[in-house]
Amino acid sequence: MAPTVTRLAPSPTGHLHLGHAWSFLCTWALARTHGWSIRLRLEDLDASRASAEARTDALWCLQWLGVDWDGEPELQSDHADRHRRAMHALAARGLVFEAPHSRAQVRAASAATAEPSEANAPNEGDAVLRFPPSLRPPSGAAWGFRSDACNHRFACPAGPRTIHDELHDDRTLDPSLVWGDPLIWMKAGVPSYHLAVVVDDLAAGVTEVMRGEDLLDSAVLQSVLIEALGGTRPRWWHLPLVVDEADRRLAKRHDALSLRALAAAGATPGRVRQLVRHWCRAAELRGESSPAELAGTVTPDALRALVAMKARLRVTPDIVRWLCHGP
Ligand code: GLU
Repeated sequence: MAPTVTRLAPSPTGHLHLGHAWSFLCTWALARTHGWSIRLRLEDLDASRASAEARTDALWCLQWLGVDWDGEPELQSDHADRHRRAMHALAARGLVFEAPHSRAQVRAASAATAEPSEANAPNEGDAVLRFPPSLRPPSGAAWGFRSDACNHRFACPAGPRTIHDELHDDRTLDPSLVWGDPLIWMKAGVPSYHLAVVVDDLAAGVTEVMRGEDLLDSAVLQSVLIEALGGTRPRWWHLPLVVDEADRRLAKRHDALSLRALAAAGATPGRVRQLVRHWCRAAELRGESSPAELAGTVTPDALRALVAMKARLRVTPDIVRWLCHGP
């Protein structure tokens, strides 16, 4: 039987925060309890934002949290050949085309359609512009993958798709209505998030993808890419999100909640692990938790219960005070 493999995939573009701690500790706990191996992949394709300092920070944070992994850390930017091969495979199937359109052009054409046009995805900014198939070039030279210095899009087949998630109900949506033809290759010479994540997970034999539920819809689009590449879907585990007091997903703007800043202010990894157990409804905010205690608490059933109650994992000033100063 193929081994069960999961991955930690931070983008080294800023400091890791409590949202990352939640998702990485959950992944680690399930993996270590169930004997999955863990790959660490630093998703550093966004050259304008990724930095060596952020790479060092990500490794430091994982070690500080007590999260270990198997094998050497990988840099996504080392896999350019594999990303290009995937583009050629999609091109051979007539599924990619050059798309030099500006955002304004796409917006104008997109506004002419009455369908939803926005969704969240890393590396694309928060608003995704739907690229309507009416903008596809006529069959001919623009189809294929000849220059890696040009934006390319994936001709997304129309129709609803359903994916299964281990924590949520099945999810059905028509990615062609949400994204239209998504950008999959950028003129900077790198794949977009959606292609890179799919190609690298397939290459690493990843069978369990755990990440925030803001990417649940993206998994539907990714399932289409997986199929186009002849791969097998992983099992998806989309976790409840950690939010601030205003219900906003934690993001780079929450630098005060970065693990570095919290550690400098006195927070301990044992208290962060205890907070994860608290969010799982398994502990008071008291004392510290060892990695083994954490692994015993974060179970698929505990996570399913959180999802079923639509839990939002809120970081309040009281929680931050407790993390940094204890009782
Ligand atoms: N690097 C991505 C992020 O930090 C990971 C997305 C994924 O797990 O698919 O958001």
